[in-house]
Amino acid sequence: MSKMNNSPTERIENYLETIYQVTQRKKFAQAKDIVEILGVRPPSVTEMFRKMKKQGYINYEKYSGVTLTQKGESIASEIHLKHQILKDFLMILDIDEKTALEEASEIQHNVSEETIEKLILFIDFVKKSKKTGGWIDHLEFFFKTGKYVECHPANRDKCPVHSWKQKIQ
Ligand SMILES: [Zn+2]
Repeated sequence: MSKMNNSPTERIENYLETIYQVTQRKKFAQAKDIVEILGVRPPSVTEMFRKMKKQGYINYEKYSGVTLTQKGESIASEIHLKHQILKDFLMILDIDEKTALEEASEIQHNVSEETIEKLILFIDFVKKSKKTGGWIDHLEFFFKTGKYVECHPANRDKCPVHSWKQKIQ
């Protein structure tokens, strides 16, 4: 799983995800979209489009732009999902959305499928826990105050975290 930073594969992954996001909104992704989103120079986009076409990731029509092939789309949607999962995970750690998105895109290239699967389960667990307001409230309290408090469901009305939650809601 250890890949060098800025290796062609990682660059291709970034392009694939960007094209994926753009083509969710409109029919073709154009070089200018990539320039805008990835902050790269137009000549390198053209070069990359040629390379990606050669490797079977995209359909490239000179004047209209690019779309993903089936191969490109299946990889891109996986990368996109990874990005979302890592973002959600970082946000559970009380990291703001913008930072979480940026850092997730750095991490996503070096995370195994096994870890992503565990993170999916973890996020699902947290979401379910949020509905019933158990330990997750205590974790949020810990992030805000640095105080670790045990929760006793039988004593919910005496729980400092849950009474604090009720007050601010
Ligand atoms: Zn509690």
